Amino acid sequence: MPRGPGSAGDAIDTGVAVVDAYVIGVDVGGTTTKLGRYRPGADDLEGFRSLPTGAARAPAEVLADLAAAVRDLAAGATGTAAALGVGVPATLSRDGRIEVLPNFAPGWRGLDVAASLGAAVDLPAVVLNDARAFTLAEARLGAAAGARTAFGVTLGTGVGGGLVIDGRVHRGDSGNAGEFGHHVHDPHGPRCGCGSHGCIEVYASAPALVAAVMRAFAQGAAPVLARLAGGRRDAVTPALIAEAAAAGDTICADALGRVTLVLGVALANVTTLVSPERIVIGGGMAGLGDALFAPLRRVLAAYAPTAGERLPTIVPAALGDRAGALGAALHALDTFR
Ligand SMILES: [Zn+2]
Repeated sequence: MPRGPGSAGDAIDTGVAVVDAYVIGVDVGGTTTKLGRYRPGADDLEGFRSLPTGAARAPAEVLADLAAAVRDLAAGATGTAAALGVGVPATLSRDGRIEVLPNFAPGWRGLDVAASLGAAVDLPAVVLNDARAFTLAEARLGAAAGARTAFGVTLGTGVGGGLVIDGRVHRGDSGNAGEFGHHVHDPHGPRCGCGSHGCIEVYASAPALVAAVMRAFAQGAAPVLARLAGGRRDAVTPALIAEAAAAGDTICADALGRVTLVLGVALANVTTLVSPERIVIGGGMAGLGDALFAPLRRVLAAYAPTAGERLPTIVPAALGDRAGALGAALHALDTFR
């Protein structure tokens, strides 16, 4: 597998002190938390497992379960745990404290998850936004392996993003560089959870796409979709909307067209600014395949002329549900090696 500069392969050469040491990567999700062990130079995690996050509980209870899961992962493994990386679906302060953590119980703001968990399991620890972790893993070992500069996008319940330059996550001065979901598409648009208006996430997340066809669905104006969904509102998903669009439902085709225009224009702006070699798209909506990727490539080509022949390729993510934990582990390796 080709590897870019600063890749996991280099980590061995430049010196993780103990040859059989490994790092632990944890990906804390709103519903499920995933974790695994990563050894420098490997292509994948070992001991990969998941547990329910229980995000409605108090932070101390969630953190206690995470610490227990990390101890369990380390027990019985050969070698020594050297560090811990934690991916969280949150914006973070410069020094790694939680700022906004949607879909979790109150009480997380200001918490230093790396310090808490690290102290509980007696390991040096670092925290990273989950979409940045996804991007780092895909850039090193996944769909953008070998690319010097990669941009990652996660399309699901929310819209996340990350930028990897020369093999390392670019966090910027604020610590939150790469927040693609909060690029503004329309400053006069609806208020977003982040406090701004008309963010990409307002238009292009999976719930936003579903919401965009619901009025027509309720009025009987999307007959193909209604037939595919068996008339049930709760059966409408992005995949079903794409299927209906392909079968001639103009409401669904229009909604999908708006989503790909919003995303494609934003990716063109990213390209104009940082000129990534590859753009990796993951999350549930990446499963739409060509219904998503083909129009995105057309919009990108139309709106990023300065890239010339170096227009980035847009590719689906390759690492599946391991990417977040793998990226968190790689970031720990980068931080503590
Ligand atoms: Zn926003």
